[in-house]
Amino acid sequence: MARYTGPTCRLCRREDAQLYLKGDRCFSAKCGYERRPYPPGQHGQGRKRRPSDYGQQLREKQKVKRMYGLLEKQFRGYYFRASRMKGVTGENLLSLLERRLDNVALRCGFGASHAETRQLTLHGHYLVNGKKVNIPSYLVRVGDIVEVCEKSRKVVKITEAASKSDRTTRAQWIDIDKDNLKAKITALPARADVAAEIDEQLIVELYSK
Ligand code: ZN
Repeated sequence: MARYTGPTCRLCRREDAQLYLKGDRCFSAKCGYERRPYPPGQHGQGRKRRPSDYGQQLREKQKVKRMYGLLEKQFRGYYFRASRMKGVTGENLLSLLERRLDNVALRCGFGASHAETRQLTLHGHYLVNGKKVNIPSYLVRVGDIVEVCEKSRKVVKITEAASKSDRTTRAQWIDIDKDNLKAKITALPARADVAAEIDEQLIVELYSK
């Protein structure tokens, strides 16, 4: 699957929200959003206009899409899947996104950012139920055991991320054993488990037009 490879903190500036896309850097003063907390581009510091309804919906969709490191086609695919599921579409959408293996690895602290856990997944550093899974979009289920593979336990990126994972909110639906770089999925993520500020209803409104 394709991914965004352009300037990263620029996206936080556009969405006017700290998305922590660069991991460590975004927790420091070096983050582009910390240094220039206004939208990118020539008119970034210009007159502030009140966004239209569509504008708000678009920005919310773009923000969530970028938080999970996805591009439009794949993101939209999750929306359609969520809309066919039982329950509230917006909540289903967030639940699906949270269950992605690269996201689960991030929540466990097995990497510093989505981009990093995505790559670590592709490079085969994670096991699900004892088997190597190198698909970032793999959706975990209740009872799955996600762990860092034996050979990868000394990978600096992973150990460093694990040592700093306390600075983000702990996921209640994952039972994390930090010392052994191992985690068990104890429930499907519910709406309350998504810590980031998201108004998912705006995304549903945008796509259901
Ligand atoms: Zn940043």
